[in-house]
Amino acid sequence: MVAKIPSMDMAGGKKMPAIGLGTWMSTNETELENALNAALEAGYRHIDTAYVYENEAIIGRVLKKWLTSGKVTREELFITTKLPMCGIHRDRVEFFIKKSLESLQLEYLDLYLIHFPIGTNYIEGFTLTPPDQLKLEDSDHIGIWKKMEEQVDAGRTRAIGVSNFNQSQIEKLLKAARIKPACLQIELHLSLQQRDLVEFCHKNNMVVTAYSPLGNPSYNKFLETVGMEARELPNLLQNPLIKSIAKKHGKSSGQVMLRFLVQNNIVAIPKSVTPSRIKENIDIFDFSLDAEDMASLKGLEIGEKARICDFRFFPVLESHPDWPFSKQ
Ligand code: NDP
Repeated sequence: MVAKIPSMDMAGGKKMPAIGLGTWMSTNETELENALNAALEAGYRHIDTAYVYENEAIIGRVLKKWLTSGKVTREELFITTKLPMCGIHRDRVEFFIKKSLESLQLEYLDLYLIHFPIGTNYIEGFTLTPPDQLKLEDSDHIGIWKKMEEQVDAGRTRAIGVSNFNQSQIEKLLKAARIKPACLQIELHLSLQQRDLVEFCHKNNMVVTAYSPLGNPSYNKFLETVGMEARELPNLLQNPLIKSIAKKHGKSSGQVMLRFLVQNNIVAIPKSVTPSRIKENIDIFDFSLDAEDMASLKGLEIGEKARICDFRFFPVLESHPDWPFSKQ
């Protein structure tokens, strides 16, 4: 069955489907192709990727097939990708958005995000600058934002936004922007609810998108790939309170976590390459959490300590003046 997905209104009259498919760590061609096909068949129209996920070309090939067959139209899709840290330079914004458009085989994006508020050097041939050659650069947010605005003017993206920026960084952009940021994408789940930042964005007409909305149970696998030690994660999918609320509604813990976000007007982009989970994650629009459920789930907030994707896998970033999170 194809699910009907509600959308959240974005500045400028655009709409973002409330659930999208996350694709970080999805680089196996067959696996990602199957995941995208399962998602599109289940009714997903929103896909989140990034230049650094090294999967834009795979996504582009699948989208091309769906668009050519006429099973979806470009207008129905909502495609987000992101400017990498090595693209945070006035002379590189256009270069990187064009690269992403070419890989995705699209004329335009629906949303282009600055992936992280810190700029680094770019070495041709590397998607991610190798840690031993990584050099920090001045991030020049206002100058970069002007280049982002030019991408809207040129028709390469319908909307622009930021990811992993903190409130004061967004405030500076809002003051200087001709085209205001339409979205903030941040880590957001029951252990890290970021309520002040969400309220600030909503007041400023920005959609908030939650990444790692399930508390990314695979994060330690990622840390292993970059040679870092495993960490204790919130393990929300096994949390007894979430399990009991899920049982009450005849739903899974993951569905309760996603429903909580959507009921708070937050878009969620759960990643999965498992077709049954892909279907499960979008099947959240036939039930509601009641006020008591919402209040007890709110109580699971831990705060900053619960941050999973803290970007400390590039230890040097924390010394940059534009480091967006609290210092350790
Ligand atoms: P998620 O919270 O989406 O968790 C993904 C993990 O959960 C995968 O291991 C997946 O396994 C598993 N999973 C998915 N659905 C279920 C389910 N119903 N039950 C049990 N397990 C499930 O974490 P991500 O960090 O991937 O965040 C989502 C997306 O957000 C990313 O993929 C990316 O697109 C974006 N993101 C953006 C960042 C940024 O800096 N802007 C940073 C991090 C993420 P499996 O695939 O094996 O099914």
